Amino acid sequence: MEQSELMVRRIKEGTVIDHIDEGKGLQVINALHIDGKDGSLITIALNVPSGKFSKKDIIKVENKFLKDEDTNKIAVIAPKATINMIRDYKLVEKRRVSLPNEIDKIFRCSNPDCITNSNEVIESVMDVIDKEGSVLKCRYCSRILDINRLKYY
Ligand SMILES: [Zn+2]
Repeated sequence: MEQSELMVRRIKEGTVIDHIDEGKGLQVINALHIDGKDGSLITIALNVPSGKFSKKDIIKVENKFLKDEDTNKIAVIAPKATINMIRDYKLVEKRRVSLPNEIDKIFRCSNPDCITNSNEVIESVMDVIDKEGSVLKCRYCSRILDINRLKYY
């Protein structure tokens, strides 16, 4: 077991999101709308030493299993993250996230005149045009968007 694993309590059922880029843990929490209101145990560890020179964030959420759209959100925010599903204290599935080519309904377009921000019921569709630099392009208004500056629905 990695030493960093010992810093946070193990969970019985739920999800461990590991290897989140340093400083992105809280963004992941926001994007997944994890607020702890259902009483589940949530552990957030920021700046956990990982390897010799780097740090990472880790989130453990009891009683939550991620849907594909959640996984896509994590891929966007923290492309190096791994998602571990825990059942009865055992790791039953480990997933790497990967940035999709297209991102639907996760972010709001930053262009106030975009049709996706009007009263029409049209949800955003964005093409990922640079996976390394996290650059998106709105399919409706063609605005170039920086993932790190967008608001979530
Ligand atoms: Zn737009």
